[in-house]
Amino acid sequence: MALNHTRLIRCCEALREKQTMVENQELRKAGLKVTLPRVKILQMLDNTEDRHMSAEDVYKSLMEAGEDVGLATVYRVLTQFEAAGLVVRHNFDGGHAVFELADGEHHDHMVCVDTGEVIEFFDAEIERRQQEVVKEHGYEMVDHNLVLYVKKKGS
Ligand SMILES: [Zn+2]
Repeated sequence: MALNHTRLIRCCEALREKQTMVENQELRKAGLKVTLPRVKILQMLDNTEDRHMSAEDVYKSLMEAGEDVGLATVYRVLTQFEAAGLVVRHNFDGGHAVFELADGEHHDHMVCVDTGEVIEFFDAEIERRQQEVVKEHGYEMVDHNLVLYVKKKGS
């Protein structure tokens, strides 16, 4: 058992190292110098289950992980990430701005007005209809951002 445990830890360390290399590469590709706060924050965004995090969420998660990165630094780094195209900022109504990695396929969002939870969705029919509506108005789509404000049924 002890051996397996050691092996597991070694494996985790190797994985973390490899991941840090990936993050370093991502930063360089985005034209950003590799600094510890940037790597830590990018790692946090890469590994979190919560794809949409406010600066405060990132700050709290880093603190819980024992990382010493101040809130002002988190704000600054997230803004730099946004400018570099690494993350997308969403300013949903009635809450803090949330950030997500700009790595995914196109999707839209629902925001729960009670809990602030952000739910991603993609609907081919809605996408198609939007294209048609834009065309009917004599335009072509450049980008779009659809946000539905929702609450749990019956609440
Ligand atoms: Zn999203």
